[in-house]
Amino acid sequence: MILKRPKGTQDITPGVINRWRTVETAASGLAEQFGFREIRTPVFEETGLYVRSVGDTSDVVTKEMYTVSSKGDDAFTLRPEGTAGVIRALLENGILNEGFPQKVYYIIPCYRHEKPQAGRFREFRQFGVEMAGSASPYADAEIILLAASVLDACGLENVELHLNSIGCPECRAEYRKALKSYFEPHIGEMCDTCRDRLEKNPMRLLDCKSPVCKEIAKNAPVITDYLCGGCREHFEKLKSILDGYEIKYTVDPRIVRGLDYYTRTVFEFISNDIGAQGTVCGGGRYDGLISELGGQPTPALGFGMGLERLILCMEAAGVEFDPPKTPDLYIAPMGERAQEKAALLCDAVRRAGYAAEFDLIGRGIKPQMRYADKVGAKFVCVLGDNELDSGEAKLKNMKTGEETPVRLEDFISAFNSLLLNEMFGSNFSEEFGSILNDLPAEDTAPNNE
Ligand code: ATP
Ligand code: MG
Repeated sequence: MILKRPKGTQDITPGVINRWRTVETAASGLAEQFGFREIRTPVFEETGLYVRSVGDTSDVVTKEMYTVSSKGDDAFTLRPEGTAGVIRALLENGILNEGFPQKVYYIIPCYRHEKPQAGRFREFRQFGVEMAGSASPYADAEIILLAASVLDACGLENVELHLNSIGCPECRAEYRKALKSYFEPHIGEMCDTCRDRLEKNPMRLLDCKSPVCKEIAKNAPVITDYLCGGCREHFEKLKSILDGYEIKYTVDPRIVRGLDYYTRTVFEFISNDIGAQGTVCGGGRYDGLISELGGQPTPALGFGMGLERLILCMEAAGVEFDPPKTPDLYIAPMGERAQEKAALLCDAVRRAGYAAEFDLIGRGIKPQMRYADKVGAKFVCVLGDNELDSGEAKLKNMKTGEETPVRLEDFISAFNSLLLNEMFGSNFSEEFGSILNDLPAEDTAPNNE
């Protein structure tokens, strides 16, 4: 019996890997354009890190953590999100002493014990960024612009930006009181979790997914009416910067975000094309987190973008993904002598920087041609005794059917010209090949210093 993968996980098979490559390339390329450097941290961390940072009233900590005990050590948890581990790493490695701002990004699998459904998995992938050291609304705008640019590069136009400010601890104290007195008379009708939240963290009542609680929350007081002067000013400035970039947004006082550590700006990018789990990206400012984790008080902010949901949106919008890489050359040997030669030629072609394959099974010519066709080889070269004896073979262009004779002794340079012509037009190598050949060696040879 073939065993099955765990519930809520996925296999990303070679047939769909190009979807992942497309979004990962867009995300990492843009992050680097914005000056973010990649960081990689462990898949598991001490459980206490998430309890301290994500918060002990959040869904993530109360219901969704995969906690493993390992032989008498402390308890560890598979990372449910990226921020906590990354901030821990920035502190532990002294990176926050190296000057501000520090800007990092990551593409990671995350683990949450949730009920699997469309767009909601137990293992899912996130592209995330974190920036530490800037309190300026330009920093908030910068990460929102980065997220918007990634969505744009992925061909998505229908993802809406919802924006809110949840203030600082001072303005939130007043707001919490107002929320408590609003929800108290309704608490009997609300879910068990919300009953618990009323005392501990009433803002979470706004984030509940149960339909009854959602309905009650509709008329709750809104945080934007309670912002202090500083928080209000920050929010107004952010909106005017976004207006300058012509980024459209809706101010949505219901956005409070699921995690405890947010302050001031919070935002979500929401799609209407992929059903109920439409939040593709969520983020905001968390000025209190770094000191909570033992560092100097340092303003910081970031976002997490769910890559499964991003790909679902792209599929729904009919976006074309980057095509998978195909071999430049397939060598089809007939017989053992030819296979020996094919192996060596293939090696030389790969060393010249091309993708090449040859037959590894000892099949006849017909199945070999079918294979070359299936893998999308650009050129095919059949090698038999005739070719070996005469020292000449043919390179067949699989798109046009055109065959070009080549001497086996200068196979690589002939193949090189054929491919250049294929890429840049029919006579490219005749016109420019000599220039390339005439370049001084140190300009063309790999740098070995
Ligand atoms: P949701 O409200 O959908 O549960 P969340 O507020 O728990 O999301 P965050 O912790 O902000 O999500 O994570 C950032 C992003 O990661 C989300 O916007 C979403 O795109 C993605 N994400 C979160 N949980 C899952 C999951 N279980 N499966 C797939 N993607 C997820
Ligand atoms: Mg969630």
